[in-house]
Amino acid sequence: GIGLSAQCMPEWKKEAYGKTVMFGKRSRIPIQEQRQSLPIYRLKKELIEAVHRNQVLVVIGETGSGKTTQVTQYLAEAGYTTGGKIACTQPRRVAAESVAKRVAEEFGCRLGEEVGYSIRFDDNTGPGTVIKYMTDGMLLREIMIDSNLSSYSVVMLDEAHERTIYTDILFGMLKQLIRRRTDLKLIVTSATLDAEKFSGYFFDCNILTIPGRTYPVEILYAKEAESDYMDAALITVLQIHLSEPEGDILLFLTGQEEIDHACNSLHERMKLLGKDVPDLLINPVYSALPTEMQSKIFEPAPPGKRKVIVATNIAEASITIDGICYVVDPGFAKLNVYNPKRGLDSLVITPISQASAKQRAGRAGRTGPGKCYRLYTESAYRNEMPPTTTPEIQRINLGWTVLNMKAMGINELVSFDFMDPPAPQALISAMEQLYSLGALDEEGLLTKLGRKMAEFPQEPPLSKMLLASVDLGCSDEIVTIIAMVQTGNVFYRPREKQAQADRRRGNFFQPEGDHITLLTVYQAWKAKQFSGPWCFENFLQITSLRRAQDVRKQLLEIMDRHKLDVVSAGNDLMKVRKAITAGFFFNAARKDPQEGYRTIADHQQVYIHPSSALFHQQPEWVIYNEIVMTTKEYMREVTAINPSWLVELAPRFYRSVDSTKMSKRKRQERIEPLYDRYDEPNSWRLSKRRG
Ligand code: ADP
Ligand code: MG
Repeated sequence: GIGLSAQCMPEWKKEAYGKTVMFGKRSRIPIQEQRQSLPIYRLKKELIEAVHRNQVLVVIGETGSGKTTQVTQYLAEAGYTTGGKIACTQPRRVAAESVAKRVAEEFGCRLGEEVGYSIRFDDNTGPGTVIKYMTDGMLLREIMIDSNLSSYSVVMLDEAHERTIYTDILFGMLKQLIRRRTDLKLIVTSATLDAEKFSGYFFDCNILTIPGRTYPVEILYAKEAESDYMDAALITVLQIHLSEPEGDILLFLTGQEEIDHACNSLHERMKLLGKDVPDLLINPVYSALPTEMQSKIFEPAPPGKRKVIVATNIAEASITIDGICYVVDPGFAKLNVYNPKRGLDSLVITPISQASAKQRAGRAGRTGPGKCYRLYTESAYRNEMPPTTTPEIQRINLGWTVLNMKAMGINELVSFDFMDPPAPQALISAMEQLYSLGALDEEGLLTKLGRKMAEFPQEPPLSKMLLASVDLGCSDEIVTIIAMVQTGNVFYRPREKQAQADRRRGNFFQPEGDHITLLTVYQAWKAKQFSGPWCFENFLQITSLRRAQDVRKQLLEIMDRHKLDVVSAGNDLMKVRKAITAGFFFNAARKDPQEGYRTIADHQQVYIHPSSALFHQQPEWVIYNEIVMTTKEYMREVTAINPSWLVELAPRFYRSVDSTKMSKRKRQERIEPLYDRYDEPNSWRLSKRRG
């Protein structure tokens, strides 16, 4: 059945929400008129003057008021691009890309000309670019290369309330920089909540508030806790579609898999409802979505039809979609959370904060009065949800951060001017991880290896794996494997064709494990001239493979720049497995005589994921890429190893285990020189400038 029977329907309680009461509707209007109708337009002069008079400015305004798309253009008009570029950072890739596209259109140029964007593995800017949207991570990389950011005249740290780790470090770096470069303008935009805090941190700078234009949003709570939020969400969407007046729906889910599942179910359930029901246009939104589909979500639904957008947190504040009248909020988001036991982060589905819930509800009241259906109880909202989300820096693994801060010459991490400092224990365990990887020496200073690792925009274990592969003579394969593990799910498994999809996947399986399986998939695709139809036949996600191809290209460029050899191991797959071990030795596990596996580092019970190439084989020793917690703790991306490699390749971590087969001389030749102190702190910067 379609599950719309009375007893499954969530029951709702009502509560008024919102400030101003205004009514009105917007239809499609010309782009310049639309720009002028934005709340920020009336403050244009004031904003330019404020930037003129203040070096740092905090700008506050409701989502959709025009901060991201307009401030950069206003400043460009006011002449700020004559002395340099305007950078505008976004915490999310998709936001940077989609906003840049929109602004290019408004500005009247092609993307990559005056207006461009730069995100990891994708630089779409040109010599004439003056307004540059970029992820905060990219600006951080740029500040590493040029600590004065000399090509910029304005830096706008947008969506600062998201408090990503990159934004937090940029805060500290820019706070220092503006003292050196008094001509640099810094704008911090945020949700109202944190304005005072930001201003306080930046020398009590001025705050410019854009008066909001919001419509009332009626909040409806579930009467009882929903055990299956997915089903409750789908029922609610259909219920709105069938019984509420026109207006689009926004449903928040936690990730790509959930969203794809929800979209498929909605299609199915709509089909079952038959022809008498008005059309429902179903649009997924998540970061890995291909660009063409991303622009589709902004198109208004044709008359008589309703649009539902099924999105991750990205639609909470980063992108604004007009015409949303109904928000369905299950109350969860996927957050990167550090697991101190494993020394790695994992994405965990976590209850959102009250601030997030308010922000989500607000999305329904942008173009008219709206409704927000919260799939949790009012008491859960008041008593169980934290008021705000913990900043990422206090939540995630700091390996990458510490490595990069060291590479920037910041050695005293404890005294760094963080807005909210991370826990000392988190800093220490990051240092320990980097020491084991050989990136830091006994005194916590950067080694030559660490210096090289910091060149790559990825987690330290991946960079270590890559650099080890150069020495081992298998970097060609490892580059592909890294690209593949970073692109998300490659195998497509539609509900109605699971068995067929699994057979096709099985054809790619390699006895060495999942990393080599991924390598085989990529190589097979390459052998078919990167064919799309071939992917379709083999149940492979072409978008993921294309992304892998992109990542691969970018990694090869970095390797080329640093003269790192790209060599193939040929048939010697042992080299490839060793290189993987060199990066992921933390994640070793041994078969447990009773059941499953035990991790070596902390003796936890784990299992090989049923989708793994090694699920039936169950080799004695394995290493894995990550743990996912579903019904059990499953290892994902598993490779069979020889335990002697652990001691050989990770002497600092496994040195107590004395079963090394490697002679001292061999170790000294191969590994120790890389662990030598990197003690020319400025030479690499100079050589970079010259090159
Ligand atoms: P803020 O940053 O204050 O949240 P934005 O500048 O992102 O506001 O958005 C201002 C307006 O621009 C919104 O009405 C939004 O709908 C519109 N907009 C933003 N991006 C796009 C896009 N890619 N396509 C169409 N409209 C967009
Ligand atoms: Mg914005």
